[in-house]
Amino acid sequence: MLKQRLMTPGPTPVPEETLLELARPVTFHRSSQFRAILSEVLEDLKYVYCTKNLVLPLTCSGTGGMEAAICNTVGPGAKAICLISGRWGERWRNICKAYGVTAIEVTCPYGKSITPAQLEKALADHPDAQIVCATLCETATGARNDIQAFGAILKNKPQILIVDAISGLGVMECRTDDWGVDMCVTGSQKALMLPAGLAFISVSDKAWKMIDANTQQKSFYFDLKKYRENLKSNDTPFTPANTLVKALRHSLKMLRAEGIENTWARHTRMAKACRAGLDAINLKLMAEVPVDGLTVAYVPEGIDGAEILARLEKGYGVKVAGGQDTLKGKIIRVAHMGYMDMFDVLTAVSAIEMVLLELGHKFQSGAGVAAVQISLASSLKPKA
Ligand SMILES: *Cc1c(COP(=O)(O)O)cnc(C)c1O
Repeated sequence: MLKQRLMTPGPTPVPEETLLELARPVTFHRSSQFRAILSEVLEDLKYVYCTKNLVLPLTCSGTGGMEAAICNTVGPGAKAICLISGRWGERWRNICKAYGVTAIEVTCPYGKSITPAQLEKALADHPDAQIVCATLCETATGARNDIQAFGAILKNKPQILIVDAISGLGVMECRTDDWGVDMCVTGSQKALMLPAGLAFISVSDKAWKMIDANTQQKSFYFDLKKYRENLKSNDTPFTPANTLVKALRHSLKMLRAEGIENTWARHTRMAKACRAGLDAINLKLMAEVPVDGLTVAYVPEGIDGAEILARLEKGYGVKVAGGQDTLKGKIIRVAHMGYMDMFDVLTAVSAIEMVLLELGHKFQSGAGVAAVQISLASSLKPKA
């Protein structure tokens, strides 16, 4: 028997209490009981988002939330500045294209982050752009983007800031209101510790003004004005994934109990330890400014990335992710996001060490595990 360990950057493991809720009989969604639960969940989401604004629930994967942000704010012919640091930033551009919105692409090499200066320049070159789309955690490369700086730049500008925080919210500091994020999108299957199926989007007053003024809104299902109207009575325009909403209540209570700043600190600690462990076994890390929810390392020269993944899964029960598109076979992505603790990091690094030893990669056996332990011990030391 081999215990299965899910260490991919979405979906992520789901806590026991939440799983038990998912096992309960299905209930009807147009009821006072469900309205009370939805209201509670949306309040707890505001806490995780660090926002006073309404957070709208959508029944779809994270991409649906991204699409809703674009199609409600702008229409064909509008200009969007897309800050692209990897595959997920590219998705913003692709959604814009699908709606006839002109995407101004601001890019950087994979592994790097978009600089605030790049945004300043794009705004100077395209003052007529209406929206700016960014990614908090670029899950494809493990790079972190400075959303706080982007928000500060846009503060007194007409453009709104739309952020894909799908793999970042509930992992790393993301202060939606204080940082001036007008629309912040997340999905259920990352740090919110739930299966896939729900997306959430916060909307600021500035964004609602743009939405209300947009006469080109073409989506029926993703019409956010309908959600706003229905939520006045804690209802949704269409059948929500109510079973998931009921389960989310448990996961959000865990986040509330931990305290969001402690949640961020836990992820920082795990990320540091994971980087230390992989570095100690001579793996080159990809991100210049790394995120806290996953660690991305290059596959060593002469070793097949697909073979690492297969051996981890078949031999050790550890499921990590590889690269996508042009990065396929070239990187491994180890998640430490959501329902994870320091021993999950130790497990992952230990399994990767064992596989790399099998494959003849050169390093001192046990060095990775030792580095993880040293890092964890130093970050757990009580402050003097
Ligand atoms: C996981 C992820 C998504 C979500 O994609 P879906 O498959 O539609 O849920 C979007 N952006 C980022 C940064 C992600 O990590």
